[in-house]
Amino acid sequence: MTRHDVVVIGAGNAGVSLAARLLRVGAKDVAVISPDRPHLFRPLLNYVAGGQATLSELTRSTASVVPAGCTWIRDRAVAVHPDEREVELGDGRRVGYGDLVLAPGMEEDLDAVPGLAAAMRAGWSLTAHVEDQAPALWEAIDGMTRGRVVFTIPPEPSPCGGTALKPLFLAADLWRDRGVLRDMDIHLVTPFSDVLDVPFVDGELSARLGELGVIVHRQARVASVDHGECTVTLDGPTGTVLDAVDLAVVVPPYRGRAWLEPLARPGTSGLVDVDPETLAHRSAPRVWSLGDAAAIETRSSGGALRRQVEILADNIARSRLGQSLRRYDGYTIIPVTLDRRRLLLAEFDRSGAQAPTTSLVDLTVPRRALWLFDRYVEPVLYFRALLRGRLIP
Ligand SMILES: Cc1cc2nc3c(=O)[nH]c(=O)nc-3n(C[C@H](O)[C@H](O)[C@H](O)COP(=O)(O)OP(=O)(O)OC[C@H]3O[C@@H](n4cnc5c(N)ncnc54)[C@H](O)[C@@H]3O)c2cc1C
Repeated sequence: MTRHDVVVIGAGNAGVSLAARLLRVGAKDVAVISPDRPHLFRPLLNYVAGGQATLSELTRSTASVVPAGCTWIRDRAVAVHPDEREVELGDGRRVGYGDLVLAPGMEEDLDAVPGLAAAMRAGWSLTAHVEDQAPALWEAIDGMTRGRVVFTIPPEPSPCGGTALKPLFLAADLWRDRGVLRDMDIHLVTPFSDVLDVPFVDGELSARLGELGVIVHRQARVASVDHGECTVTLDGPTGTVLDAVDLAVVVPPYRGRAWLEPLARPGTSGLVDVDPETLAHRSAPRVWSLGDAAAIETRSSGGALRRQVEILADNIARSRLGQSLRRYDGYTIIPVTLDRRRLLLAEFDRSGAQAPTTSLVDLTVPRRALWLFDRYVEPVLYFRALLRGRLIP
C-alpha cells in the first residue's frame, strides 16, 4: 500500500487547484486520485450551447492539468475508510493519507425525473450541463425557426445552476436577430420564487425575460417528461403540463457521489458533511471537502472555489500546527448573459448579501466588457493561474 501526506480525490477544478495551491505553499507529498478522463472548463459549455465556443476550447487531458510535483494515481476512488485513514481504489488497492480532500464533484440524477434519460437519448431533451449534449443543443437552437421550447433552472444542489439561463438568453437573442422570436413560445421553469432568488439581479432578469416574451413558471420543477407525447410535466403549485414541446432544455437534478454516502450530511442530497466555514469534515478527522461535492450551504460555482482553495490549503497547515482555522463566508457567483454580447455577475455570500469583488464598477449591470471577460479572459485565467494554484481576488 502507498501512503501520501495529502491525498486529493478528483482532478476537476477543485482538486487540481487545491493540489497546485498546496504545492505552492510548501507541501511536499501531494497525490491526486483521478481516472484518465478529459478535464473540462465547464463554464464554457453554456457558450457551446449558444454557438459561441467549441468543446475543444474547454477540454484538456488530465495529464496536462495535474500539477508538476504531484503524484497522479490513475484510478477512481470507490470508498473512504476514515478509521484506517485509507482510500480504496477501483482496482482494490488502498492509498493511505495524512489529510484527505474530497473533490469529486456531483453526479447527475437522471432517474429523479421519469422519462428524462430516454428523452435525452432521443435528442428531444438536451442540456449544456451534460458535455456531450452541448453541441447538439446548439444545433437544435440554430435550426429552429418556430415552436415551443422549455428551458429549466435546476433545483439545488447543482453546479452553478443559475447559469442555465445563459443558453436561453443566447438563443432568444439569436432568434430575435433572425426575426423568428415571435414564432417561438419560450418557457422557463425555475424552482425559485423569483428567477434566481437573488434579489439584486432578479429585477433585471425578469424584465429581460418579459421583453423576450418568455413565460416563467416559478416555484416549479420538472416532475417528468415524455418525448413520445412531447410533454413536460411540472410539479409546482399549478401541476402544469406543457404539451406540444419541440425541444426540452432540461438540466438534470444533481446529487453527491453515491460512494461517499457514509460521509454525507443527511438532507443535502448526498453532499459531504463539512463545516461550511472551515471545510473540515464534521466527524471524520483529517478529512476535508470543497467544490461541488461539499455541503457548503451556498450555491456551488467555480468562482466560489477561488476562495475555498486558498482557505482550505491554509486550514490543512493550520490544523497541523494547532492554530485556529480560517473561515469561508460562502462567497459565490452566478454569471448570466442577457444577450449575445452582454453579461451581468451576481456575487453574494452565504447570507445572500451582495459580495462584489470590486467597488469601482457595478457588475450587476449587464455589460459588454463582462461578457468578453467571461467568454475570453476567464478560460485563460483558469488554465494559466487557477489550476496552477495562483490566487485571483
Ligand atoms: C454547464 C455548466 C456551466 C457552469 N458555469 C459556471 C460559470 O459560468 N461560472 C462558475 O463559476 N461556475 C460555473 N459552473 C460550475 C463549475 O464548473 C463547478 O462549480 C466546478 O467545476 C466544480 O469543480 P469540482 O472540481 O468541485 O467538480 P468537477 O468539476 O465536477 O470535478 C470533479 C472531478 O472529480 C472526478 N471524479 C468523480 N468521481 C471520482 C472518483 N470516484 N474518483 C476520482 N475522481 C473522481 C471527476 O472525473 C471530475 O474530474 C458551471 C458548471 C456547469 C456544468
